[in-house]
Amino acid sequence: MTDTTTAQATRVAIVGTGDVGATYAHHLLLSGLAAEIVLINRNRAKAEGEAMDLTHTVPFAQPTRIWAGDYEDCAEAAITVITAGVNPGQGESRLDVVKKNGEIFRQIVPEVARQNPRGIILVASNPVDVLTYAAWKLSGLPPRQVIGSGTILDTARFRTLLAEHFGMDSRNVHGYIIGEHGDSQVPAWSLTNIIGMPLPEYCAAHGLPYHQAQMDEIAQQTREAAKRIVERKDATYYGVAGGLARITEAILRDQHTVLSVSTLVESYAGIDDVCLSLPCIVDESGVERVLHPALSSDERDALRRSADVLKQAISELDLG
Ligand code: NAD
Repeated sequence: MTDTTTAQATRVAIVGTGDVGATYAHHLLLSGLAAEIVLINRNRAKAEGEAMDLTHTVPFAQPTRIWAGDYEDCAEAAITVITAGVNPGQGESRLDVVKKNGEIFRQIVPEVARQNPRGIILVASNPVDVLTYAAWKLSGLPPRQVIGSGTILDTARFRTLLAEHFGMDSRNVHGYIIGEHGDSQVPAWSLTNIIGMPLPEYCAAHGLPYHQAQMDEIAQQTREAAKRIVERKDATYYGVAGGLARITEAILRDQHTVLSVSTLVESYAGIDDVCLSLPCIVDESGVERVLHPALSSDERDALRRSADVLKQAISELDLG
């Protein structure tokens, strides 16, 4: 009997092929996770150039079809990743570009949702929490299908710095930055551990010094990492591209992985109707579940303050 069914190739669409979009596309290509990568940019020539350049990596990677496309190409995408937008300039915070990038999202998101009401939208553009909320509102999609990269990057930076401090593999240091991907982010010290032990306990058991001031310094370096990088090279893109690729893997492979990503939060710690990062289970449906960690009362207060900052920024977008 002839099999008339054709397997659907796994497609990822990327809208906005600047530094972040192109770096993510490269990471994705090397990972072999997607059979098709479509690049969409306001400046079509830029998307075409990136597609040509990336295609020349294929002989060193996995068979992958990459092309410069249009919104119709999002129709078949499992995930559409939005990395379009302007960057905050020197001395500007991520929240300073909310209006400009909000306008860009008004152009992009309804097109993507019209073409593909079943696919997942993954937002990286800043301010990422505000724009994740905007993407949810403008798309009309269920909240689980709209994800922001959120603090996946801050969490990676935090774990990297702690791992350097303790002289071990960052994969063995567990913890999360939650709340805003920005200045009001919250290091969840009460969840941070090595071999299941809170850091003060781990240090006491192993004859290591523990100074809260050093930990606070690590939290500050985490918060200011992007600023320090931008001062030196004008932009950041490798870290976020790695985070986007990790979220992509969790979705495409239905991994049910716990990741700190930005999602609609309702009824947690007195927080409602705002997108911010909490540890979430991510699978092929998107955010399968928002987890509710046992935070200290100081951390809950800080998270509520972070939510208030984001709600204020969201109100500037007049999303109705
Ligand atoms: P970039 O200027 O290099 O690229 C942005 C691209 O978006 C440009 O190529 C531009 O042509 C395109 N674009 C603008 N409007 C568009 C539209 N309406 N439709 C399609 N394409 C459009 O900027 P970048 O360094 O790649 O940064 C992109 C975004 O990612 C910024 O908002 C930045 O702040 C953000 N970012 C997020 C994180 C994170 O952790 N979430 C980290 C770094 C950067």
